[in-house]
Formats: sequence, structure tokens, C-alpha cells
Amino acid sequence: MSNGIGKKRIAVFGSTGSIGRQALEVIDANPSIFSVEVLTAQSSDDLLIRQALHFKPNIVVIGDEKKYGVVRDALRAEPIKVFAGETALEEVAAMDVYDMMLAAIVGFAGLRPTLRAIENGKAVALANKETLVVAGDIVMQKALEHKAPIIPVDSEHSAIFQCLVGETRSRIEKIILTASGGPFLGKKPNFLVNVKRDHALQHPNWNMGAKITIDSATLMNKGLEMIEAKWLFGLQPDQVQVVIHPQSIIHSMIMFEDGSIKSQMGLPDMKLPIQYAMGFPRRLPSAFPRYDFRKPNTLTFEEPDVKTFRNLTLATEALHKGGNLPCVLNAANEIAVFAFLRNRIGFLDMTDLVERTMQELPFIERPTISEYFESDGEARDFAASLIKL
Ligand code: NAD
Ligand code: MG
Repeated sequence: MSNGIGKKRIAVFGSTGSIGRQALEVIDANPSIFSVEVLTAQSSDDLLIRQALHFKPNIVVIGDEKKYGVVRDALRAEPIKVFAGETALEEVAAMDVYDMMLAAIVGFAGLRPTLRAIENGKAVALANKETLVVAGDIVMQKALEHKAPIIPVDSEHSAIFQCLVGETRSRIEKIILTASGGPFLGKKPNFLVNVKRDHALQHPNWNMGAKITIDSATLMNKGLEMIEAKWLFGLQPDQVQVVIHPQSIIHSMIMFEDGSIKSQMGLPDMKLPIQYAMGFPRRLPSAFPRYDFRKPNTLTFEEPDVKTFRNLTLATEALHKGGNLPCVLNAANEIAVFAFLRNRIGFLDMTDLVERTMQELPFIERPTISEYFESDGEARDFAASLIKL
């Protein structure tokens, strides 16, 4: 299936995750448009092998080096190169074997390979929002320098991106990011204090990886998305607004300087923004289910409860102050979510951990890329030291 002349050659970084698997479904449904050249996974060797046997990519990378032998042996009969380890991800991202990277690794780990793709002048369909949260200024600057288009996959940012077609960014008054509110919409701290992992992992509208599902329950996801939006669309912090819209039909909106509002709508299905990003600038047809306005439906909107979901307040602070603060917030949040998923800390402890780490770490106004990496490491160490093991 690979190496097809005229096809867009896709490198799926994080192919075994929720976004990665859905991207492969989109590719499978459009074999004359896309080919798969690279597949990568951290530890899901079985699924990675099955994907490789099906899509026959040029290169496969398994992050966990202990699993290299298993993957290599399973693909021995195929003309597929197999690599392992963190640096292999960067090396492959720097190769000329693909046209577009689908950046679907979760967390800070996605930053380095995505930066390599950008420096390589490749188009990036960006799902990994943490990349822009951590080092948005440097990522966007490099994208400009290397003429590497960044096309958002995150549904809210895809919505804004789609609303911008035919418009000028300078005419944006503000953008309105919609948030479902997650499984605990309307709940108060006396309820949240007892929330356990399995409950928090049940999102009403979206089926996603564990980390972003917890981020959605704490509203940190929306906080990260505010910062992501600032960089993607070159906005001032006060041009980014969040509104709760529990039905997740309006994926986000732009209010322009004349007061006119554009929105992008559809059923909540990540395959739509994934396909739009991979197909861009073409809008490809699909057989995804359609929203029907004639069926009984109500679309509602409300203000987020920032007193209860304090992560939004912390992220707003990071959005405004900038510097290394979003990077610190992200690192502490990754530690907090990881600890919550292992039942080490409670639901509300996650926000406390992020807040204390933001207060503790020294502020750097204009970090270099190595200062971002240092801030990330220090924030992780400090946040981890707060967790009683
Ligand atoms: P996931 O946990 O389902 O999958 C993550 C993928 O990254 C897997 O393939 C895994 O093997 C790989 N991975 C994990 N840790 C790694 C590491 N240290 N090094 C290299 N690879 C690693 O996550 P997901 O839900 O698919 O989300 C991926 C990204 O997309 C996240 O940044 C998330 O915020 C963003 N996103 C996801 C959704 C969604 O619906 N799932 C929506 C919007 C944005
Ligand atoms: Mg989103």
C-alpha cells in the first residue's frame, strides 16, 4: 500500500493510541489518497505489529527498547525497517520518507519528534497539544522558518481553522472554545474529592486516551487548549474565551470584528478533524454519521465554573504570563494525572500539585529550547516530590 505515486505519505507518530488508530481508519478508507510510511508506538508491540503487517510502512519504531526483538522478529519477512528507542523517533522524523507527520504521541514526549518534523520542513497534523503548550513560541517560529504547515487535529482548533478559511486572522475579535464540561459538569468540590479513577475515565461524549480523558474531567484539557489556540492563531490571551457546551455539536467559534460569529459543527467524532487535517487543503468525502437538526435536540451554553475547576484558572494564569509557566503547568499536570491514574492521589490533589509547582519553579520570561527542557524536568521532579509514595 505504501510508496504509491501521488499519494500523501503519512508518518503516524503514536499509531497505537486513540488518535493514531482513528487516523489509520481514515487512511484505510482512502487508500488512493494516503499511504502509511511510518508507524510508531511506545509499548503496544502486538498492535504495532498488526498495523505494520496491514499497512506495510517503510519504517516502524517501538519506543520501548526491550520490545525491539519481538517487533523485528514478527516483521522479519517484510521489507520494513524496525528501530527502537527515543532517539530513533527523532531520527525518523528527520528523514525524507514522508510528507506529513500525524503527531499523535501523548504528552511532552511528542515535542522532540514534532520539532524534528518541522525542522525537516514537513507538514504536521498536530494532535499533540502539549507540544504547543510547552514551547509554542519556538515551535511556531520554527514552522515559519522551515515553511512547515501546522494543521490542527484537536477538534476545537480544527473548528477555528475551518472557520478561518477565506478570512483574515487580523479580523478576529475573539475565539470561543467550546468545552463539554466532562463527566463532572455541575459537581462541586465536596463531590469531586471522592472521585475515583474509573469514574473519571468515563467521558460522556468522546472516547479518548487515558491522559486526555482525565484532563477533560478536570478541565485542564480546556486550559491546555487555550494556550494551544494562542500559538496556533497568533492571539492575545484575552481573545480566547471558553464556554461550556455539553452536547459537543459546536466544536468552537470565531467572533469577528463586525460581531459576526462563525462556528463549525458536527457529531463528536475525532475522525472528522483528523481527516480534515490529513486531507488539507482538500475536504474529502466521508461516510461518518451525520447530525440531524430535525431530531429532538437542544444546544446549550453556560459559563465554566472556574471556582470548582481551578485548573482553568491556573491555565489562564499561564496563558497570560507565558514564559516557562505553561511548560511548568504541563509537566506538573502530567505527573499529577499519572499519579491519579495509579490511585496515588485524589482528584482535587491534581490541581493542588500543579498550583504548588507553578508557585515553586523560577519564572523564565523568554526560555530557550534547552531551558524549556530543564523547566520540564525540574517541574516533574518537584511535583513528584510532593506525592507521598
Ligand atoms: P493515547 O494514550 O491513546 O495514545 C498515545 C500514543 O502515544 C500511543 O501510540 C503510545 O504508544 C504513544 N506514546 C505514549 N507515550 C509515549 C512516549 N513516551 N514516547 C513515544 N510514544 C509514546 O493518546 P490519545 O488520546 O490518542 O492522544 C494523543 C494526543 O492527541 C494527545 O496529545 C492528546 O491531547 C491529543 N488529542 C487527543 C484526542 C482524542 O480524542 N484522543 C483529541 C484531541 C487531542
Ligand atoms: Mg479538544
